Amino acid sequence: MSTPSKRLTFEEVMEIYNRPLLELVYQAATVHRENHDPQEVQISTLLSIKTGGCSEDCGYCPQAARYHTGVETNDLLSKKQVEISAKRAKLLGSSRLCMGAAWRNVKDDSDFDHVLELVKTVNNLDMEVCCTLGMVTENQAKKLSDAGLYAYNHNLDTSEDYYKEVISTRGYQDRLDTIDNVRKAGITVCSGGIIGMGESPEDRCKMLVTLANLSPQPESVPINALVAVEGTPLEEQKPISIWEMVRMVAVTRMVLPKTTVRLSAGRTEMSIEGQALCFMAGAASIFAGDKLLTTPNPDIYGDLDMFDILGLKPTKPFTKHDKPQPVKSADYDLKEKPRWTRPGHKIEANEAKRVKKVVEL
Ligand code: SF4
Repeated sequence: MSTPSKRLTFEEVMEIYNRPLLELVYQAATVHRENHDPQEVQISTLLSIKTGGCSEDCGYCPQAARYHTGVETNDLLSKKQVEISAKRAKLLGSSRLCMGAAWRNVKDDSDFDHVLELVKTVNNLDMEVCCTLGMVTENQAKKLSDAGLYAYNHNLDTSEDYYKEVISTRGYQDRLDTIDNVRKAGITVCSGGIIGMGESPEDRCKMLVTLANLSPQPESVPINALVAVEGTPLEEQKPISIWEMVRMVAVTRMVLPKTTVRLSAGRTEMSIEGQALCFMAGAASIFAGDKLLTTPNPDIYGDLDMFDILGLKPTKPFTKHDKPQPVKSADYDLKEKPRWTRPGHKIEANEAKRVKKVVEL
């Protein structure tokens, strides 16, 4: 856990962002070597435990019920299904399993009780267990912690300014509140973003300013490249270049020196050479598996070949933090009344589509 020694300013991060690329990679690689073993890259597996049908309107997400993306919805996976997937992932080198459910927020119901059982199951397999379930209250975060949850993922996605162009059904502060609840429960924080959604370099840097000024800084920051899925408002976005990805990884490494920076969505568009530069610039994790929730991902055997070529070794679990020990969950009574917002921003791409439809009629 790393506490920033002083608050970073937007200008400072922009200055780093604008450095000549190779100079920036060299500096980031130096910071990386001072804080991490550069030969180690963690293989993480992202498993969708409940797919599709989500009530939110995240403009990049094929799982939002309102977009017609052809994603098949499924109910929560059983304990057996998750156990089999986790064991297979572990055999193939994963030391971390992230379970994702397409929910706006966690509800105190039997589904949540089931997720707590899933967390215990994966924890028992000696893997770092992460969950991404939408917004959580402090009470719910404590229960996840008691079940042995190692990390909770809740991405900021982009800058506060650009957020309303991408998501209208909740506010930036809701994201920060969930991160705060996770932190209070003693769970490590995983929070990052997506580049290539039409945001500016300034937006990318503003997001990094917010992440870097969290105290303590997040232990894990995934950097995703948008995978533009047909049927979503962002379907027409052009893929970002590898150079933007390398630059983003390098800046993230510079401003969050101890954090695990994760190469996440978008790797199918990246060559081994491009990924090698990202590892050089400070990326210390990949997500493995044929799919990343619902979008395509490189084949694990191809990834293992890449590790061989580059002389990388998969990181073992719990190298940075101890394994959480599940305890009997207490009956927390924090007198909570979650008040997640419904800010009702307008996503411009959605609006444009609506206008086009009306004109066509
Ligand atoms: S990103 Fe998560 S919250 Fe947003 S629509 Fe997709 S599943 Fe729902």
